[in-house]
Amino acid sequence: MKILKILTLRGPNYWSIRRPKLVVMRLDLETLAETPSNEIPGFYEGLVHTLPSLVEHFCSPGCRGGFLSRVQEGTMMGHIIEHVALELQELAGMEVGFGRTRETAEPGVYQVVIEYQNEQAGRYAARAAVRICQSIIEQGAYPSLELAQDLSDLRDLAGDAALGPSTEALVKEAEARDIPWMEVSARAMIQLGYGAHQKRIQATLSGYTSILGVELASDKEGTKQVLRAAGVPVPRGTVVSYLDELEDAIADVGGYPIVIKPLNGNHGRGITINITHWKQAEAGYDAAKAVSKSVIVERFYQGRDHRVLVVNGKVVAVAERVPAHVVGDGRSTIAALIEETNRDPRRGTGHDNVLTKLEVDRTSWQLLDQKGYTLETVLEPDEVFYLRSTANLSTGGIAIDRTDDIHPENAWLAQRVVKIIGLDIAGIDIVTSDISKPLRDVDAVIVEVNAAPGFRMHVCPSEGIPRNVAEPVIDMLFPPGTPGRVPIIAITGTNGKTTTTRLIAHIFKQTNQIVGYTTTDGTYIGEYLVEPGDNTGPQSAQLILQDPTVEVAVLESARGGILRSGLAFTQCDVGVVLNVAADHLGLGDINTIEAMAQVKGVIAEATMSNGYAVLNADDPLVSAMAERTSAQIAYFSMNPENELIRTHTQRGGLAAVYEHGYLSILKGDWTLRIEQAVNVPLTLGGRAPFMIANALAASLAAFAQGVRIEDIRSALATFQASTKQTPGRMNLFNLGSFHALVDYAHNVHSYEALGGFVQNWTTGERIGVVGSPGDRRNEDLVMLGKLSAGIFDRIIVKEDNDTRGRDRGDAANWIQLGITQAKPDARCEVVLDEATAVRAALDDAPPGSLVVILPESVNRAIQLIEERHPIQVIAPAK
Ligand code: ATP
Ligand code: ATP
Ligand code: MG
Ligand code: MG
Repeated sequence: MKILKILTLRGPNYWSIRRPKLVVMRLDLETLAETPSNEIPGFYEGLVHTLPSLVEHFCSPGCRGGFLSRVQEGTMMGHIIEHVALELQELAGMEVGFGRTRETAEPGVYQVVIEYQNEQAGRYAARAAVRICQSIIEQGAYPSLELAQDLSDLRDLAGDAALGPSTEALVKEAEARDIPWMEVSARAMIQLGYGAHQKRIQATLSGYTSILGVELASDKEGTKQVLRAAGVPVPRGTVVSYLDELEDAIADVGGYPIVIKPLNGNHGRGITINITHWKQAEAGYDAAKAVSKSVIVERFYQGRDHRVLVVNGKVVAVAERVPAHVVGDGRSTIAALIEETNRDPRRGTGHDNVLTKLEVDRTSWQLLDQKGYTLETVLEPDEVFYLRSTANLSTGGIAIDRTDDIHPENAWLAQRVVKIIGLDIAGIDIVTSDISKPLRDVDAVIVEVNAAPGFRMHVCPSEGIPRNVAEPVIDMLFPPGTPGRVPIIAITGTNGKTTTTRLIAHIFKQTNQIVGYTTTDGTYIGEYLVEPGDNTGPQSAQLILQDPTVEVAVLESARGGILRSGLAFTQCDVGVVLNVAADHLGLGDINTIEAMAQVKGVIAEATMSNGYAVLNADDPLVSAMAERTSAQIAYFSMNPENELIRTHTQRGGLAAVYEHGYLSILKGDWTLRIEQAVNVPLTLGGRAPFMIANALAASLAAFAQGVRIEDIRSALATFQASTKQTPGRMNLFNLGSFHALVDYAHNVHSYEALGGFVQNWTTGERIGVVGSPGDRRNEDLVMLGKLSAGIFDRIIVKEDNDTRGRDRGDAANWIQLGITQAKPDARCEVVLDEATAVRAALDDAPPGSLVVILPESVNRAIQLIEERHPIQVIAPAK
């Protein structure tokens, strides 16, 4: 077996709309192509032995053991690899369920599609599955140690990429509200929402969190001063920078017991609490000094540690935090109890998990010493031994929810304190013996205010009710009624995408919104080019959706990007499908026009149910997409009598048609006329039918998204197919006595469309300068010749400079053959050099004629025309 290629899909795609995260592996079965599993001796047994849990895969029989029975009866290796790759991820703790295996047109080559949660892990699992099956085929087994290593690697990959618990809580809440999210550069930041409506978070810092607030909170001494001045109970304390100041400082705060902590620190690092004598104080000083230049000396307050979480001015949760500890049973040593506690699957390392594993550190040894214990000491039943003096979860502490217990005055005080510090999200550390009593009554204090407080202790407390503290954060970022998305208009089809995308963008510009759009020529925001290039894939779409200035996104979405990585968005508001014709067949394992329709149909299917799929009613492959989308449908047609349009509008549906020379919207029984085609420059005075179709699609898409007819009308009147805006797309030039047209039609469908325009040219002769890239099939060249014969009165056949492997003159011969087959008396000559051919045609053009140039190089053709000082019929837009 040989892996030919692995693609990673990240959005709605050819295989699935709702399962965007897929790995597509192109796999050559080589010698196994003709061998189903039942013909490989020992394979079934080896597979069951290696991965017994495959019994849980139902597969097509639809019952437990279903998949394994198919292996036993005989199935192809690609299918088995799919199931193995899914099972590996399951065993590593990643829930995945979707898989598909399909034969390609190439004998023995399969596409194996598997779902992933984590991209790297998905690709790893695909490769490992091939390795495992290969090993079972060759040796009857896969070494269990290697399997264990694979699973551990997979777990590591998943762990490395996992979001922290606070971020995860926030992202989940956003998802529940249909707010899209994405990681911004290197994972540090998360963008919630699209474009101009986006908000950012980084852990529990929000885009609104004040830098002044954060700096004040992380300056513990400054915080205390500010709070003391506001009458808030804070620990009595002082700051020292040298050891010789320590003794006075201790006296200052009223003597032992004291606490020593770093001036700048967090996560409980360098803190020693409940210091009762000088030796301890010295050690505590050193520990704090290792973290920060200056240290705080404070009175020690008796009590339990509480964290009060305030979001957007309101207390949203309270947790009591208990330092890392073990509870005796009269039999086990402290070491054994620690080990036992760490076996809890909820305990991980750092902030990765719900809880953190217990570790013995400097403080633990001190606490053991103080009691005269060692790790081998056996604790009495129910005796509690603390391994830490501070209660941070990240050092193994646990959290108990106390949200319902806090005294109203304490809640009021906490809210006030957070306002004073100036934070939108903050955690206040309170030491008190009883949170249900006002602080002053029980000699309690606020020891610290934390910016970016962890949510873990509230979202999954070890005891008590979990609190959805992400909800108020998302409420703050997206108050009810504020949008999180910008409208997305996605455009696909075989021909006309760029033109229609530009026109839709132009229509939305009339509404004074900032439009971000992507096309084959580049990515644009408003009036400006952001990045030139063929930008019709998801990365360019992502750029637009991440841009904070963009208010509307209009995205040309070509086949290549959809196949390579899926869409950049899970849903669009309007999905436009212009047409599906034979082009690009044979690429990316898409070999039939029906399969191509499935690719382009992704846009229709990804349209949200209260949005609109804008479909071409004149193209059966496109109109059939209505069956597969849950969106509302809007059809466009060049024919007002189109049966589909008629029934659709009779049922109150939305449509756009070309009727009596007008581009019109039909809304149920009503006709809303937008503009006469003769007044729409893009349609070349109404003579280019396919441009009318593009304009109908664009107008309908905008109307469906709420744009007013007046705005659509003025956009159609001002949109121009200039060489500057749309080079090589129906650029028409007036050369005095005759006209010339440059167009880059490059497949049968666009040739036919172009023919529709040329046939409407009635003032004189129609002359074609035609050719084709040499890498097309002979029959395609013949076909092109036949089409040309039907369109033009006179034809000059030329060739590209680059013959793409053919002998010079060969392509021209095939085209000429087509021409004479279709029309034996055709006026046709061959001038191989393109520039010479173009010059000849322009030199000889009779009055009133139209010279149509289908060039290899659009720029060169336009240059040849411009040498003759033409008037561009459509004046270039600014
Ligand atoms: P984090 O940022 O993770 O909360 P930190 O390193 O910033 O920790 P503090 O919050 O100042 O440190 O202190 C950690 C814990 O130590 C407090 O939550 C409290 O339990 C205890 N503590 C700190 N100062 C005192 C004090 N003066 N009296 C009693 N306990 C204290
Ligand atoms: P590409 O796949 O190269 O990006 P596209 O789909 O973006 O193409 P355009 O650039 O808008 O299409 O147009 C390319 C050519 O296709 C035009 O010059 C014209 O000849 C033809 N064309 C445009 N619209 C249509 C249409 N609706 N039907 C058929 N042909 C069309
Ligand atoms: Mg703290
Ligand atoms: Mg294009």
